[in-house]
Amino acid sequence: MPIYRYICPKCGEEQTFLMRMNEENPKCPKCDVEMEKQIPRVQLKGTAGSCNVSCSSCSGCFSRS
Ligand SMILES: [Zn+2]
Repeated sequence: MPIYRYICPKCGEEQTFLMRMNEENPKCPKCDVEMEKQIPRVQLKGTAGSCNVSCSSCSGCFSRS
């Protein structure tokens, strides 16, 4: 399941959520405004194999059969 980072445009609060596609954006618990989804640039270690493309930065994708 994809993990997305959301950042509150108002206070900068950063949170991560397990989200499905087409799910509404979560709201900041402090400000009650919609948080903005951040596009992950780097695959975190420990999530190897979670991406569906053969990326060179994610060793798990290649070793995974
Ligand atoms: Zn906020």
